[in-house]
Amino acid sequence: MTKPEEILDQIEILFPDAQCELHHSTPFQLLIAVVLSAQTTDAAVNKVTPALFEKWPDAQSLQNADVKEVGETIRSIGLYPTKAKNIVGLSKKLMEEFDGEVPSTFKELQSLPGVGRKTANVVRSVAFDIPSFAVDTHVERVSKRLGLAKPEDDPLKVEEKLRRKLPSARWNQAHHDLIFFGRYFCTARNPKCAECPFAAFCRKDKLDALKAAQKKANSEKKLAAPKVKIETQQDDLA
Ligand code: SF4
Repeated sequence: MTKPEEILDQIEILFPDAQCELHHSTPFQLLIAVVLSAQTTDAAVNKVTPALFEKWPDAQSLQNADVKEVGETIRSIGLYPTKAKNIVGLSKKLMEEFDGEVPSTFKELQSLPGVGRKTANVVRSVAFDIPSFAVDTHVERVSKRLGLAKPEDDPLKVEEKLRRKLPSARWNQAHHDLIFFGRYFCTARNPKCAECPFAAFCRKDKLDALKAAQKKANSEKKLAAPKVKIETQQDDLA
């Protein structure tokens, strides 16, 4: 079995320039871009942030923005009404409690509206260069396919395993490496398996079989559910 560090070395040969693809010029703009990126692509976020940051470049200006107007500015991305509310609320809190500056501790970052573990990890890593390991959908999928995590592991478990298996000096770059590998090579639907250096030990087939079995079990459960309901109704009539 290839060691985790050897996997990273190989990925870095494929993608020597893996880095954060969210456009930003300050920690504040990075934080906002990461919050906006939940359940959407970095490319979609990069389309709305130029107009957003032109109108409201920092916490001072965004704290007073009209939430509806912010929503209109970012309306091409998913969940935009909630995200608009969160980034205005987040700016208010930054002004009230942190002098308008983005904090760097995990606890403080997670106290901000719309900021969860993944966002806090990205900000700590990219804005402050603090060793962190953010696990997004690409990192999770790739880690499981490469056997760095188990199929049933949730994102937190995946993060813990990656932190254990890799030296902290590599965490920040490893996060970008795994994202690039997942985004441009080992994609969810059409991975480039024929050209992959990890094909010999890849677990994709096992994961797919497991997913198919789970799907089948769920649909059988659904089919069985109305039967119980009818029986209950018949019982009630008796
Ligand atoms: S063999 Fe295919 S699925 Fe497996 S890691 Fe490589 S690209 Fe991804």
